[in-house]
Amino acid sequence: MKKLAVLTSGGDSPGMNAAIRAITRKSIYHGIEIYGIMNGYQGLIEGNIFKMEVGSVGDIIQRGGTKLRSARCQAFKTDEGQQAGIEQLKQKGIEGLIVIGGDGTFRGAKALTEKGFPCIGVPATIDNDIAGTDYTIGFDTALNTIIAAIDKIRDTATSHERTYVIEVMGRDAGDLALWAGLAAGAESILIPEKTDDISEVVHRIQRGHERGKKHSIIILAEGVASGIDYGKRLEEATNLEVRVTVLGHIQRGGSPTAFDRVLASRLGAKAVDLLLHGQAGQMVGMSENKLVNYDIAHVLSIEHAIEDKMYQLSKEISI
Ligand code: ADP
Repeated sequence: MKKLAVLTSGGDSPGMNAAIRAITRKSIYHGIEIYGIMNGYQGLIEGNIFKMEVGSVGDIIQRGGTKLRSARCQAFKTDEGQQAGIEQLKQKGIEGLIVIGGDGTFRGAKALTEKGFPCIGVPATIDNDIAGTDYTIGFDTALNTIIAAIDKIRDTATSHERTYVIEVMGRDAGDLALWAGLAAGAESILIPEKTDDISEVVHRIQRGHERGKKHSIIILAEGVASGIDYGKRLEEATNLEVRVTVLGHIQRGGSPTAFDRVLASRLGAKAVDLLLHGQAGQMVGMSENKLVNYDIAHVLSIEHAIEDKMYQLSKEISI
């Protein structure tokens, strides 16, 4: 292969830029021309493709978001959209594509590979909801953003003896809530994968009160309920003052942590290596601190699961 391309798609996550940088520089290191595609699959269909140089990715390793921008593109879910994309790539003589994104993005890569165009997927989403890798790019940064926010809220919760519900991102995946809850010492953690009755949360708060504890932090993944609604229900059930904070999009942005930058650099470089070794339709990942790669079709067929032992631990030590 002499020409490769890279795009970012779906929800952005901190560390995507570090991955773009690694892919660009690793390609150039091997004497390969590398092209950037703007706005994900939308830009691919439109031919919004430009050649990148070493300097094109300078000064971005520390930035959140994605320099290549991202977009959602319904047209790419169709046969015609995918063919149009392949045409654009072929016109420029590009022989392989690396996509950085989540499971939706990988479905696009799978479709292109099945149509004969070699693609590799790099997992980047703050949700950490992709099978085959212990961590996705952006998860660690989002987690640290959440922890910093909870620590600040805890100061107020302690001073005013209040119960706080903090809603974090995670429609289907509870990793952010679980890890944040453990790291911030939350009293209760509510995630979509587990059904915790509100009575259990009430019981925990009351048990804390009985031993003199006057404040509680409850972490709620958005997929379980709206924080506002849950806070109201909790207030009615406990007769305590409950405050709600919805962290929202601050969780998506910010400078990536060292962990995410290193992860993104390693995964990005591995993606280039795979294409240069004639592999296609693979996702790169990190498992037990080793770089791995799996068939995208296989990864998409496995439902992401949370670490049960970690969930159990959170219950055991948040008494
Ligand atoms: P994420 O990659 O973060 O999961 P999305 O689910 O929004 O984000 O997917 C990003 C883009 O990937 C979509 O806008 C669409 O262009 C493409 N995509 C999603 N699903 C498919 C599919 N089944 N076939 C082809 N392309 C898809």
